[in-house]
Amino acid sequence: MKKNDEFEIEITDIGNDGEGIGKHEGMTFFVKGGLPGDRILAGATKLKKTYGYARLVKVLTPSPFRVAPLCPISEKCGGCQIQSLSYKKQLELKERKIAENLTRIGGFSPEFVKEHMDTIVGMEIPFHYRNKAQYPIGTDKNGQPIAGFYAGRTHSIIPNTNCFLGAEENEIILKAVLSYMEENNIPAYDEITGKGLIRHVLIRKGFTTGEIMVCLVINGRLPAKEKLVDRLMKIPGMKSISVNINTENTNVIMGSELHTIWGEPTISDVIHVRDMQKDGFPFTGDSLTFIISPLSFYQVNPEQTEKLYSLALEYAGLTGKESVWDLYCGIGTISLFMARKAKQVYGVEIVGPAIDDAKENAKRNGITNAEFFVGKAEEVLPEFYEGKNNSYEMLYPDVIVVDPPRKGCDEACLSTMLKMQPDRIVYVSCDSATLARDLKILCEGGYRIKKIRGVDQFSHTVHVETVVCLVRK
Ligand code: SAH
Repeated sequence: MKKNDEFEIEITDIGNDGEGIGKHEGMTFFVKGGLPGDRILAGATKLKKTYGYARLVKVLTPSPFRVAPLCPISEKCGGCQIQSLSYKKQLELKERKIAENLTRIGGFSPEFVKEHMDTIVGMEIPFHYRNKAQYPIGTDKNGQPIAGFYAGRTHSIIPNTNCFLGAEENEIILKAVLSYMEENNIPAYDEITGKGLIRHVLIRKGFTTGEIMVCLVINGRLPAKEKLVDRLMKIPGMKSISVNINTENTNVIMGSELHTIWGEPTISDVIHVRDMQKDGFPFTGDSLTFIISPLSFYQVNPEQTEKLYSLALEYAGLTGKESVWDLYCGIGTISLFMARKAKQVYGVEIVGPAIDDAKENAKRNGITNAEFFVGKAEEVLPEFYEGKNNSYEMLYPDVIVVDPPRKGCDEACLSTMLKMQPDRIVYVSCDSATLARDLKILCEGGYRIKKIRGVDQFSHTVHVETVVCLVRK
């Protein structure tokens, strides 16, 4: 085969960026736009020894799992990769991805994985689930300000103020910002020249409280700000309006300078504990309140976060007597969930301001048995383990929870966890490949997997969370 040759191929799987995957004459091909179950005509674009890339020329027989996407721009926008696939099939593929990684990278047998994996936890209605949106602002060819999303892997903005994953209020907020810009001749920021003012609009909503926060990321000073405030403050639920100054020529959205220009500096949200053993995962009656600022990290899908945390809590098996380490704790959400049911919780997080939020959140919820430390998990944990005068509870916790970023846990962190010999380890992961790698190390070090379950935090994207319960052999 050579470049530009056309050939028929059946798509059987989906890759890390949502691209279709199929086999042709012993080679694996990646085809953007192809969905599992499609039979397509493909044109080779790049050929390597054992694999290649191809473009979708024509769908010959569409996949029985194809559905009409709700969003008119879902195929151009970089946000959703698999909205054209039925939700049931999305869940099935995510579950399969977890199982395959555990087998291929973790070395666990397919039978073992099947036996220990519970059905993936999906959403009831997989739309309008995101509590946070960051819209880039730009200028169209007529000079009008636009808000929208970056097309996949680029920085060109596709105008769209009505994203089907976000809160329904986003649209009126964006329209208010755009009309304020038009009427006051306020230019959007231009990434190439570094000129112009409005860079991004960040919107957050506490889904349980209904409180809304808008933060304009700007390259300088905001003129006629009362005209902006006038428009936004009338929107039901509006609680906080702020500006964030970012004058750097960078891809990083937020700068460090933040000013509240109307209302409160933060909004709050409530996370309920759910019973993960019962159908429909009903509330248990327990809940926690969190304050959120424009700069703090907070899980983006509140409904699924409740299920994810409740599952982690169930796997931790707490009775009130335990000591718990929560590594990679962010603003202490999992730590505080655990603190309600444990004797003592220790949280570790690399970002200092997140730990400030964690301490504030503990106070607001009247929790006094959670302590938080700033630092790298792979440094803080060994320091405590090797330090003198640390309590037995600290050195030999009953439970360790980890929720690392995509790259997984550092070896020094894993080896200290093994030395601490907790009865149970709960691993919350947003990347099942690094999860599988780390589980292999933990299982070789004296633990066995008791349960595995996927949670779909990001419907219509290819991402999936996994929670694993490990016990000491
Ligand atoms: N459990 C939290 C946060 C999970 S995201 C929640 O559910 O909200 C992962 C967190 O790990 C982030 O807050 C990130 O800042 C933090 N992190 C990244 N590398 C780290 C490291 N080496 N040590 C400790 N924390 C780290």
